Amino acid sequence: MNEGKMTVLGAGLSGALLSTLLAQKGYQVQLFEKRSDPRTFGLEEGRSINLALSYRGWSALEQAGLREKVRDQAIAMRGRMMHNATGELSFQPYGTKEQAIYSVSRLGLSQLLVEEAEKAGAELFFQHRCEEIYLNRGEALIHNLKNKTDTLAQPNLLIGADGAYSTLRTAMQKTPRYNYSQSYIEHGYKELSIPAKDGDFAIEPNALHIWPRGGYMLIALPNADKSFTCTLFLAYEGKESFAELNSPTDVNRLFESQFPDALAVMPQLTEEFFQNPTSDLVTIKCFPWSRYGKNVLIGDAAHAIVPFYGQGMNAGFEDCRIFMELLAEHNHDYAKMVEQFQELRKPDADAVAELALQNFIEMRDLVADREFLERKKMEAELHRRFPERWIPLYTMVTFTNIRYSEALRIGQLQDCIMGKVMKHYNYASELTDQDYERIVALLDDE
Ligand code: FAD
Repeated sequence: MNEGKMTVLGAGLSGALLSTLLAQKGYQVQLFEKRSDPRTFGLEEGRSINLALSYRGWSALEQAGLREKVRDQAIAMRGRMMHNATGELSFQPYGTKEQAIYSVSRLGLSQLLVEEAEKAGAELFFQHRCEEIYLNRGEALIHNLKNKTDTLAQPNLLIGADGAYSTLRTAMQKTPRYNYSQSYIEHGYKELSIPAKDGDFAIEPNALHIWPRGGYMLIALPNADKSFTCTLFLAYEGKESFAELNSPTDVNRLFESQFPDALAVMPQLTEEFFQNPTSDLVTIKCFPWSRYGKNVLIGDAAHAIVPFYGQGMNAGFEDCRIFMELLAEHNHDYAKMVEQFQELRKPDADAVAELALQNFIEMRDLVADREFLERKKMEAELHRRFPERWIPLYTMVTFTNIRYSEALRIGQLQDCIMGKVMKHYNYASELTDQDYERIVALLDDE
């Protein structure tokens, strides 16, 4: 038995995975979650129903020995299926045939992780809300919502995995010289659905569907029950915004003109549109992630990002993997460990926040742009010819564990080179073998 006592606040995706990993290593883990047990009561409303899981997420699940179990419930998406305004389709693979991102159900994954945490020996307390933090002592006051009693958690390390509106972080924000920012984008999102048709998927299941329309977009990810969860990203105000969609006629008009092929497979569109909430999209940054070396933030509590790179959960899972590696290195010196953790992860959290914002523009706008597509083809060919030297940005972020900050830096360099190339060439087919050699050599010059 490991001597360390760990208290984890929040049994969301990051908290449940970290509790599993810690309990597997013999730490005494207490996990407090304000909501009910997802295995019995499902999930709260207003969270995305499914998520794209990629390489970083899989690496952390692998560390917990859960790859196969999660794979059983995941659906491979091998590329983007683009839908234009007349319903024409074009498929853009993410990479090689083996490279895919995976659609997983938030509820299914949450249930599995909570179950695994319990099996590994963590003590789970649902309907237990953290109400008060004593930062300098690393303690937390926990209120039992069922019998209205309070207990004081006194661990060796208090871990805040309590999401974008973290109670632990709120306590840190009251301390001197604490850096904190939250910024909302002008778009919100609403979840809709494409039900199964005659017992099968109504559209291609092994793809992430995108209907890019410049200032806004619709996307769809497959579910195991052969339905799709669609997300409409639209500005709150202005032209073509949620503010303009006040009646079923307004909604139908938008879908008829912009998403006709989606409308054809969305029989419950207008009911869902007015039933389902419209939710915000926020980026939260803060630092430090620990006070007095007795507590630490992970996942969305430390770095909430917009969902356009499909990396929020993946980044939270990567936090867990790196947390465990540093814990092994520093043994019981928790103060040193959390110090290193935040120094290492903060630049990566900032980088993925920026990448996520940038990818909104790419998804809603550029993926339908000819020049952009030719550029992608050239980059794919560069990667094929020089797999170690030229790795496209999307590949670095989605299919490797290269640090996000490094991916951003290299991506900017490659972007600059491709900007020069595109001044001379319109189509990938124009490039010769020598051209490819010359382009890759530019990496050394920059
Ligand atoms: P959360 O999932 O928010 O969990 C925090 C937990 O803490 C909750 O269960 C909460 O009830 C609990 N809690 C809060 N306060 C307290 C308290 N005081 N006491 C006790 N418990 C408390 N990421 C991806 O990787 N891929 C995707 O495709 C993707 N799609 C997304 C789509 C949308 C529309 C959105 C909004 C996000 C998406 N994300 C995606 C991001 C992903 O959802 C988050 O990054 C992830 O859920 C963060 O996990 P977490 O455990 O850190 O926080």
